[in-house]
Parts: sequence; C-alpha cells; structure tokens
Amino acid sequence: MNSTLLAWLSAWLLVGFTIFATCSSTIFGASAETAALSRTQTQPGTRKVVKTDADWKKTLTADQYAVLRKEGTERAFTSPLNDIHQDGTFYCAACHNPLFASGTKFDSGTGWPSFYKPISKSAVDEKVDKAFGMVRTEVVCNVCGGHLGHVFDDGPKPTGLRYCMNGVAMTFEKK
Ligand SMILES: [Zn+2]
Repeated sequence: MNSTLLAWLSAWLLVGFTIFATCSSTIFGASAETAALSRTQTQPGTRKVVKTDADWKKTLTADQYAVLRKEGTERAFTSPLNDIHQDGTFYCAACHNPLFASGTKFDSGTGWPSFYKPISKSAVDEKVDKAFGMVRTEVVCNVCGGHLGHVFDDGPKPTGLRYCMNGVAMTFEKK
C-alpha cells in the first residue's frame, strides 16, 4: 500500500466517522427530548397551560376562579383539605400540576392548608406581592400561573417556611 492511498483511506475514514458522529448525536438528542416530553406531561417546568380569562371562567368553579385567577383568598377553616392527613399528592385545581406531597403538610393553626416545601423546586413560582400595603411573597402554579397563596418564613423545620395555600386552588389524590 503506498502512502498516497493510505492518506486517502485515512481521510475517508475521518469523513465517515464525522458524519456518523453528527448523525448519532442528532438521533440521541431527539430521543432524549422525546423522553423528556413524555416524562413531563404532568410535571412542572416545561409544561405550560395558557388559557384566556373567558376559558378559565368556563373551566373553573366560581370559587376556584376567584382565588386562582383573581388572587382571592378563601375564608379560613373552610377547605376540606385542611383535614386531610392521608398519604398522597396535592395538585393545582386548574391544571393538575403536582404541588405538594402530604408528608410536608403540617397544622399551622391558620385555617389554611400549610406545607413546609413544594413537591419539587419547579412546581411553584414565587412573586413579590405588595397588595394591601404589605410586602408578601405570592406563590403561583408554575404551569398555569394560577394564584395559590403566600409563603412566610415562620414555618417548621427543616425549611422554616410556611406555604399558606388556598384549599380551593388544589385537589388531593390518595397514593
Ligand atoms: Zn396550575
């Protein structure tokens, strides 16, 4: 084999390998994306639910709409979710985004379902709320943007946080 032929062969091998590497990374990239999508159907983060105000009005009950879309607050001690102590998950009533695990629920004595942390970091989003002359941290669903309640820093261990939620903005499903 002369050296020119060897050089040609090496060059073609290199080109072939480059094409293979490019194709396979595209294929792997696409399949990873598809897997991520199917995993996130009920997960926060990439999933977003956007509806018009009129559509929300149609799909939510009047009480749910007042809290989730108009930042209302339910009357204390009115939510049946206050008394739930079973194992399960609390979901956003508007978009079924999982929000809180039952293991993080505690009795705050406030009359609103209270938790010391969300089920995952991306489950909720937090915003500064300056309504009523107070500076509070509003908690919204990270999928549909619905208002859920507020978070305060007088909660129990291990986080020291109190997620004070409106029960009407959530549903509960047993494990
Ligand atoms: Zn939601």
